Amino acid sequence: MAEKINLIKTIMDGMDYNLHEIEKQLPPDLGGMWDPSAMQRIFSGFWHKAYNAQQNGDPIAWVNFGIPTELFYAMDIVPIPVDHISANASVFGLTYKYNDLAKEKIADYLCSNNTLLLGALLAGDIDPPAIMVHPANPCDSNLATYPTYSKYFDYPYFMIDMPYITTEKSLDYVANEYKKLIVLLEEKTGRKLDLDKLRQTMEYSNKTHENVLKLNKLREAVPAPYSSWEVMGECGLLLSCVGTPELAEYFEKRHSHIKAMVDNGVGHMAPEQEKIRVVWIYGAPVFDYGIYDWSEKEHGAVLVSQMNNNFINEPVEDISNLDSILRGLAQKLVLMPMTRECGGPWENYLDSSLDLIKRYKADAAIFGGNHACKSNWAIAKLVKDKIQEEVGIPVCNIELDLFDDRVASSDTIKAQMSQYFDLMLTRKERR
Ligand code: SF4
Repeated sequence: MAEKINLIKTIMDGMDYNLHEIEKQLPPDLGGMWDPSAMQRIFSGFWHKAYNAQQNGDPIAWVNFGIPTELFYAMDIVPIPVDHISANASVFGLTYKYNDLAKEKIADYLCSNNTLLLGALLAGDIDPPAIMVHPANPCDSNLATYPTYSKYFDYPYFMIDMPYITTEKSLDYVANEYKKLIVLLEEKTGRKLDLDKLRQTMEYSNKTHENVLKLNKLREAVPAPYSSWEVMGECGLLLSCVGTPELAEYFEKRHSHIKAMVDNGVGHMAPEQEKIRVVWIYGAPVFDYGIYDWSEKEHGAVLVSQMNNNFINEPVEDISNLDSILRGLAQKLVLMPMTRECGGPWENYLDSSLDLIKRYKADAAIFGGNHACKSNWAIAKLVKDKIQEEVGIPVCNIELDLFDDRVASSDTIKAQMSQYFDLMLTRKERR
């Protein structure tokens, strides 16, 4: 039996270690340079919040990555995306321990997003939350496993139901689901919703999203102002910290910094080094973030966008009353990355992939097909054909598991990427 650990503490310590490593390399005076530790500092702060809540017995909610976090911050409940638990368990070397344990109980074709969490629960490395909240998308894997875990480990679970097609009427329906959620959160956590606090949280959220939209536009620039790692990392921030002053401030500074870069024609890489602009149109590997760095150094291939980081929602215009805020959150929920693309109809996914490729002037598109994503694998060929037809880019489909390198190792993934990039570069040079 593997040694029992406190997973939240392990992740927090890992975040602190990473922060310390980045800080060690910083010059004493940044002299106007972007502070590369800014993102890591927010991640560290987030896991400290989670650890403190655990130690003090304050409520923690587990949320799916499709659940906006504002309401929870307004109610002093720490919202931890379960996908961040799985991702960090993977990054900090716990994949085999948790997946092997989980797969003694459930089918091994399920997603590691789900199985790593189960393994952590079975190992006793993480306590069940005060509640888990999930939207009706993006996949059957989530909708089949998470409610079962909540029954088995005895904690409440709430699914925000969403009609299949989004209309004005369906948004009213989702806003009403939010009202039910508030009642349940108050009952299960003992925290009362304070409207003023919610308004304040929404102000931070609006400021964040205003800047994210401006940054989306700036990121279209050639050469790309973001590094691949920054594209990956900011997605994590936007899934866990929206509604906090730290994140609002981060994106404000980020916007001024990136604007100055783009205005001066400066890219993350020099123009002659940026050879291929890549979009991951579905999942992208998490177990080895070194893949993105390698791809830049080895092939001049920079990640310009990926589906999980495709936040397109507008700030909520009217935050004067609860009804208008909940309607705004309902609108945000149906537009969350992967929630809007992966619940069907399939054109939602196709259109969004095409939009990413065109908007970010991509030369290459990779479908990181998690082996458990049945719905998206079912349409992968259709999507590939349509993209080839419309923009002339052959999509590279790679079968993998985002968190477990036993389905496709880093070397296997890199070998496929290398072949693909060589091909795409030759095509580009011929044009
Ligand atoms: S990777 Fe696929 S199967 Fe796993 S949670 Fe995401 S959509 Fe579901």
